[in-house]
Amino acid sequence: MKLTIVVPCYNEEAVLSETTSRLTRVIGALKEKGSIDEGNILYVDDGSKDRTWELIESFSCRNAGVTGIKLAHNVGHQQALWAGLEWASVHADAAVSIDADLQDDVEAIGPMVDYFSKGIDVVYGVRRERKTDTFFKKNTALAFYRLMRGLGGDIVYNHADFRLLSRRALQALVSFPERNLFLRGMVSSLGFPSAMVYYDRKERFAGESKYPFSKMFSFAMDGITSFSVRPLRYIAYLGLLFILISVLAIVYGLCSYVDGKTIPGWTSLIVSVWFIGGAILLACSIIGEYVGKIYKEVKRRPRYFVEKRTENLEK
Ligand code: UDP
Ligand code: MG
Repeated sequence: MKLTIVVPCYNEEAVLSETTSRLTRVIGALKEKGSIDEGNILYVDDGSKDRTWELIESFSCRNAGVTGIKLAHNVGHQQALWAGLEWASVHADAAVSIDADLQDDVEAIGPMVDYFSKGIDVVYGVRRERKTDTFFKKNTALAFYRLMRGLGGDIVYNHADFRLLSRRALQALVSFPERNLFLRGMVSSLGFPSAMVYYDRKERFAGESKYPFSKMFSFAMDGITSFSVRPLRYIAYLGLLFILISVLAIVYGLCSYVDGKTIPGWTSLIVSVWFIGGAILLACSIIGEYVGKIYKEVKRRPRYFVEKRTENLEK
């Protein structure tokens, strides 16, 4: 059985050498135990601007188990991961995806492989606690999981992109034609036998987070709008509610007119103009979000371009 560990990297020169030695050790231990016959690390350099690619190349010269793909442009974490998984779906029996920064526990890879050998196709790495995350990150993430669940997205709590996928699951995944990738939602919609492995999330080993708030927000928006059309329906309910309210208002207005105590009405008018204006804008923006998604999908653009490969990587 051949295992590939897919690691997307964007400006990760500070952590790469430690990541390489830890993952190499894990692969060595698994081989010794007899859990795997072969293993490689596949770095996907997501258009880094620092020395990430030079490092990957130099590691691959020294160690046949280290391979890499360099993407021509920064396409984002999800797309970069996809590039690696696509390679693995052809060349490996199973793939584990993990971030370069060592926040996820590499020791959880062993138990993942054990599940795989018992015939499980998808093994989720789940964070036990979020002690090391900031208050802000922890709570926005939790709110996001709740919202996703509430909107009908079938995602696993506290699971990011640390998981094992069997070849069967990988092939199913890469058959998804969509360009808007939200991998954790897509994986849980595959429906193959799955299991969970729990671990404690650590601090980033070195370097800074490559997910500033703006990227996180757009990731969350992508997650919601590529998995749920319920926001559209809620807008319809909101519209119905407004119509109902306005009917009541008309009845009330007519009654008070007949009663002869017509009020100047400026306040209520101006308030409702603003209110309805806001509601319409909100509705348009949500519809626009979906139209934008459709636009992106119908363009069928390639997800990434490979610029270079390490010499030792099979085609
Ligand atoms: N990453 C990437 N492309 C990007 C941003 C991030 O490949 O445009 C990689 C990054 O190198 C890391 C992983 O995605 O391996 C997760 O990023 P990070 O650890 O910075 O996110 P956080 O843990 O702060 O959410
Ligand atoms: Mg991280």
